[in-house]
Amino acid sequence: MDLTFISDRQHEILVGVQNVFPNAHHGYCFWHLRNNLKKMIPVKSKLRPYLVWLLKTCAYATTEKKFEDAYARLWSKGGKKVRKFLDAIPLECWANLYFKGQRYGEMTSTLAESFNGWIKFERTLPITPMVHSDPSHRVDLMNWFCSCTKWQLRGIPCPHAVCAIQRSGTPIFQFVTSYYSTLNYFNAYLHPIEPIHNYDKPNIDPKALTILPPIVKPGTGRPRKKRIESAGNNDKKAQKRIEVAGINDKKAKKGVEGDEIIDKKAWRCG
Ligand SMILES: [Zn+2]
Repeated sequence: MDLTFISDRQHEILVGVQNVFPNAHHGYCFWHLRNNLKKMIPVKSKLRPYLVWLLKTCAYATTEKKFEDAYARLWSKGGKKVRKFLDAIPLECWANLYFKGQRYGEMTSTLAESFNGWIKFERTLPITPMVHSDPSHRVDLMNWFCSCTKWQLRGIPCPHAVCAIQRSGTPIFQFVTSYYSTLNYFNAYLHPIEPIHNYDKPNIDPKALTILPPIVKPGTGRPRKKRIESAGNNDKKAQKRIEVAGINDKKAKKGVEGDEIIDKKAWRCG
């Protein structure tokens, strides 16, 4: 089988992989290479995003023309530092087109980084405790029970139960609840399902539901024309209304609410 390693090209990894897996292929992580390149170009440089894009084009290129075109531009525009950087990384280690193994579409080592984050504690352990660091659980095959409770909750054996079942030599499907069986699934839809009537809603002719306005008895006096101001309006408006209405009531002028004044006016007209 063709093994492929993708790393951030740390010296120890390069040497270690070469020693332990001499026939394996070793690719450089594009994400790390991109960061290396970025560090070589001043942040304010307008060329920075363009050069990073050229490196990406080279790394992902699947035809020689596309690769060479981008590489030539990167070489000429990048300057001394970039050229030195390109010289230090063999093409077969980072350019998809020239990679001798199979990268299976993986251009970065981010998956490994995620795994690293996941085993933050375990990776500090020696190899044996690291493998066995998962706490053990009590499995009771007779009662379909595991102390991790996953088996009871899902009806499908958890990894601990699977381990115990495999040792017992019994077919694993015998320990899966029958609700998951195709027979039960077919049985669930064996009979036609009639639509259920909704008895909560009365059956009324929609035309009979027309709502008419209420019958109003016209009030006495001239109908009010001015809108009643909402509460909290400032006193200046109320003052103006008093003037417009022509009320000379001193009390009203002193600060009686506008609404009340309008009402008074209406009452007087009546
Ligand atoms: Zn379990």
